[in-house]
Amino acid sequence: MKWNLIIDVAECHNCGNCVVAAKDELVGNDFPGYSAPHAPQGRGVIHIERTVRGVTPMVDAAYVPTMCNHCDDAPCVKAGSDGSVRKRDDGIVIIDPIMARGRRDLVDACPYGAIVWNAQEQLPQNWFFDAHLLDTGAAAPRCMAVCPTQAIEAAKLSDAHMAQRVQAEGLRTLKPEIGSKPRVYYKNLHRADHCFIGGSVTAAIDGRIECVEGAQVELLPSGTAAASALTDAFGDFKFDAVAPGSGAFTLRVSHPQYGSAERGIAIETESIYVDQIELSIATARD
Ligand code: SF4
Ligand code: SF4
Repeated sequence: MKWNLIIDVAECHNCGNCVVAAKDELVGNDFPGYSAPHAPQGRGVIHIERTVRGVTPMVDAAYVPTMCNHCDDAPCVKAGSDGSVRKRDDGIVIIDPIMARGRRDLVDACPYGAIVWNAQEQLPQNWFFDAHLLDTGAAAPRCMAVCPTQAIEAAKLSDAHMAQRVQAEGLRTLKPEIGSKPRVYYKNLHRADHCFIGGSVTAAIDGRIECVEGAQVELLPSGTAAASALTDAFGDFKFDAVAPGSGAFTLRVSHPQYGSAERGIAIETESIYVDQIELSIATARD
C-alpha cells in the first residue's frame, strides 16, 4: 500500500489553508530523520497556481495546489542517490536533512519546481507528505485535514486500486510527459489546462432583445455534434474541457419559438466567449 494525493481542482477555492498548515507544521520545527526547520519567508513547499480563462463577461479561475509529487521514477532520487533523497516503501520521498546539506543542485533536479532552497539551513526541502505525522498514527497529512472543501484526499492504496481510481475518476497528473510517475493526481484539471467555449443567446421578443432560456446549442467540430447544451436563464451556455489547438467548430443554436443561428469559431490556445448569438426565424426558414 502506498500513499497518493488526489486533488479536485473544481473544489479548491484558494483559501490558502493548506499552504498555511504546511508552514505552521514545518517552519521552525525540527523533525529528525524527516526535515530540518523550514524557512518562514519565501515560497513554501505547498503552493497554489492560478489560471484565469475567458473574457468578460464569462471568466473563471482555477486554483491548482502544487507540492512534491512523490514520483515513483523521481529525478531527485536519482540525483540524490548517495542517500540525500530516498523513496520509502509507502511511496513517500524524503530529502534527508543531514545528507542533503549543501545540495543546492537538488532544487534543479526536480522538473516540477517542488523543491525549495532553505538558505539558512543550506538545505533543499520538499513537502514530505507529513510523514512524521503519518508514522506516529495520524490518518492524513494536515493539508487534507484543514481543507474546508475536501478538495484534498490522501489515499493509501495498492497501485492496482489507485490505477482503477485514475481510470474511473478521470484523474491526471501534472506534466505526464516527464515520465516521472507522480503520485499526486488531479481531478478536473481541465479547469486549468483546457479551454471553454461559451456564449449568450438572444432574440428579438416584443421589440426588445432578450436572453433566451432553453435554446439548444450544439458544438460541431466537423459536421458531427460533439456536445450539446441548453442555455440557462441568462441565455448563457458553456462547453468545457475543449483541448487547446482543437481548431474550427460550428456552433448551431436553435429554439422552437425563436428560430436558429450558426456561428463559426476556432480554438487555439485561449477559451472563447462568443458574444451574443441572436436567433431569428428568418434564419430558420433559410
Ligand atoms: S516532484 Fe520533484 S521533488 Fe518530488 S519526487 Fe518528483 S522529482 Fe522529486
Ligand atoms: S485548503 Fe483546500 S480549498 Fe483551501 S487552498 Fe488548499 S486545497 Fe484549496
